[in-house]
Amino acid sequence: MNVVWFKRDLRWQDHQPLLEAIKSGEPTFCFFAIEPALINSEHYSNRHWKFMLECVEEVQKVFSKNNCSFSLLEGNVIDILSSIKKQQGKFRLLSHMETGIDVTFQRDLEVKKWCRENEITWDEYQQQAVQRGRKNRKDWTTQWDDFMYAPIAKVDLSKLNTVTLDESLIEKFRPKIEIKKEHTDMQVGGRSLGMRYLDSFLDHRNQKYGRHISKPAESRTSCSRLSPYLAWGALSIREVVQATVVRMKEMKYKRNLANFKSRLHWHCHFIQKLEGEPEMEFKNQNPAFDKIRNELNVEYLKRWEHGITGIPLVDACMRCLNATGYINFRMRAMLVSFWTHHLLQPWQSAADHLSKQFLDFEPGIHFAQIQMQAGTVGYHTLRTYNPTKQAQEHDPEAKFIKKWVPELNNLPPQNAITPWTLTQMESMMYDFELGKDYPQPICNVEEAGRIARDTLHEIKNSSTARHFAKKISDVHVNKK
Ligand SMILES: Cc1cc2nc3c(=O)[nH]c(=O)nc-3n(C[C@H](O)[C@H](O)[C@H](O)COP(=O)(O)OP(=O)(O)OC[C@H]3O[C@@H](n4cnc5c(N)ncnc54)[C@H](O)[C@@H]3O)c2cc1C
Repeated sequence: MNVVWFKRDLRWQDHQPLLEAIKSGEPTFCFFAIEPALINSEHYSNRHWKFMLECVEEVQKVFSKNNCSFSLLEGNVIDILSSIKKQQGKFRLLSHMETGIDVTFQRDLEVKKWCRENEITWDEYQQQAVQRGRKNRKDWTTQWDDFMYAPIAKVDLSKLNTVTLDESLIEKFRPKIEIKKEHTDMQVGGRSLGMRYLDSFLDHRNQKYGRHISKPAESRTSCSRLSPYLAWGALSIREVVQATVVRMKEMKYKRNLANFKSRLHWHCHFIQKLEGEPEMEFKNQNPAFDKIRNELNVEYLKRWEHGITGIPLVDACMRCLNATGYINFRMRAMLVSFWTHHLLQPWQSAADHLSKQFLDFEPGIHFAQIQMQAGTVGYHTLRTYNPTKQAQEHDPEAKFIKKWVPELNNLPPQNAITPWTLTQMESMMYDFELGKDYPQPICNVEEAGRIARDTLHEIKNSSTARHFAKKISDVHVNKK
């Protein structure tokens, strides 16, 4: 018998483990587990489970239309596998490879050990252009192409012969998780919705991709918004790459989709980083930066997490993210830069909060990007995002700011961007009191930015930082 274990691959097409189960002709049990270790992880939250379970619900419907069964269980995977073995005897385990947080890495090591001890074969298949055991990036780009342009694993569910397990086992692992409602603007899970985002993006939404990508409001419709569907595997990255290439062939002006496609490349590039260096979830990649940002200011954390720093664009982005699970790339970078540069705080606390808020939490991209924006890698250009300048460039009318920080609604745009510059007369005129209607700024943006740049540049230029930066780039920079 086969057991197909679904993880971050909640789809029924381009699914190699399913295809292999069909090819074998053996009866197959398919399941997804809500794992207690992940429920308790500081990186997972209600919105992730909600999205995953919406994906599972659709998988179950499609399976059922094809007279197949798919089980949703809650429990530790080893307990589940042990119970299956007790009831059914030996089986072959099939799944996709996962590059994730330490909790899933440790769980996979335990599953491997359990399989060895129980003489169970575990066949794992690549689901991204991410390879196990890589020591450097020689030929990595070529191998990305090989993976992406390989044929899609077409699954004909009518040929899958599924089995259900004894009711006592299903009862033992019956899901108990309670899912709360989320904001109406939160994306909803499921492969068919993911397909709709892909189709509308390739059809027309891509037209302003390049122009809007940095704008907090406009990016919400001009970017693909595929990230949660890719992160939880409702769509495979290979299907998205191949559909993009087909569409590009039909188009005269290809630049927007070419830019988009390069990001699909970065997707795997960053996950490969975590695959090779799992410690980056916890530690600075470049230890030269260990001597700064060691003390967490709890009051700062509370103000930053709740969007009450008194810096309007920072607060608007955070409140929008907390409510809807999404903010665009540049504003994510600015939130991290503000926390780690202007406030000189440890990136680890930012990573915990943001991973729970991003509906598209993808560990490889997440930790690599956070360290890059915090400047702890050492070979990238240091970028300190000034939130005032970002607002002037990307939200000059302060529409986005006012939507999420309605306390500033009465102010003209320039004052809504920098309310601390209001004169007494203006404050009276607009009936607005800084410190009462909206918080005093948590720091002086210009001054804090200057201190951060000086501090970080000094470390970055040190011989220790350069020594480690060279070692890191030797491992992670693509060499074709
Ligand atoms: C601090 C920080 C944390 C981030 N954490 C995550 C995360 O947990 N999950 C996540 O999917 N993205 C993350 N990103 C990358 C990026 O912001 C999102 O992928 C993007 O905003 C998602 O929107 P979209 O699908 O409309 O993107 P599009 O611009 O339409 O891009 C298409 C896809 O390409 C990939 N992609 C886009 N930008 C990047 C990038 N810079 N690096 C790697 N892959 C990229 C994503 O899979 C995305 O869905 C993070 C960025 C920063 C600065």
